[in-house]
Amino acid sequence: MRNPPPRVVDAHTHLFPAEIVTDRTSFLARDGWFGELYASPSNVMVTPEDLIASMDAAGIDVSVMCGWPWRDPGLCRIHNDFLAEVHARFPERLAWLAIVNPLDPAGATEIARCARLGAVGVGELNADAQGFAWNDPASLGNLVDACAALDIPILIHCSEPVGHAYPGKGTATPDRILRFLEAWPDIQVVAAHWGGGLPFYEMMPEVAQLTANVIYDSAASTYLYTRDIFPIAERLVGSRRIVFGSDYPLLNQKRFLKRTISSSLVESTWNDVLGGNADRVFKLAGGA
Ligand SMILES: [Zn+2]
Repeated sequence: MRNPPPRVVDAHTHLFPAEIVTDRTSFLARDGWFGELYASPSNVMVTPEDLIASMDAAGIDVSVMCGWPWRDPGLCRIHNDFLAEVHARFPERLAWLAIVNPLDPAGATEIARCARLGAVGVGELNADAQGFAWNDPASLGNLVDACAALDIPILIHCSEPVGHAYPGKGTATPDRILRFLEAWPDIQVVAAHWGGGLPFYEMMPEVAQLTANVIYDSAASTYLYTRDIFPIAERLVGSRRIVFGSDYPLLNQKRFLKRTISSSLVESTWNDVLGGNADRVFKLAGGA
């Protein structure tokens, strides 16, 4: 039995305002991507109290909350106000990312507003949901400039170009993400869902050169890869570029943390993967 790590950060969770949880049906019609994923009642939405209870049960110190990649900037703003308010209620436990549509001309102003309210990054951006393209990087310049000016990272939903189809998979495949990185090599990126497999291509030197500022999160791992993904990704990109993230409530935090710890991840790198890297990238140390 190995010792538990001192601090665990779940870098990828999702939370919705009560008005959306209770009036889910009307929001299904207001946003295509939301409609596609949440038409199924088995996709649950949780309250801040549920998240805190789940963290307590799992032994997770801090969670980073994402909202939803709304296409409508008005819905993004509502969601940002909600996450700011939740963060204010649980400042030691819950950090949050601002959601904007990268094509919104007022997006930079919204990002700055959210940063003032305590957002530690922007995301989880989703090209398919929000109607933009990672391989059209010029259209994303305003977003990148706003994040660079505030020195905050961007969390990107990524898609595997191969494997099974599933609701919400999308088309943000490694080749498209690389076009974005080519254009904006200096921006700090967190590539969700193991970057759609991008770590494997880091065996190619020209790819590794573009991904130097990319961190990978493990969100939804259980649905995508065997548990060997942790030690193998660690070998490919190093333990400093992986953050533990569950995609809660999609994955159960307690079960997924146990699974992660029981993977053959090298024990000396736990502190990095399970919390230290998220603290560094999202600047959480000293309180979320
Ligand atoms: Zn995602």
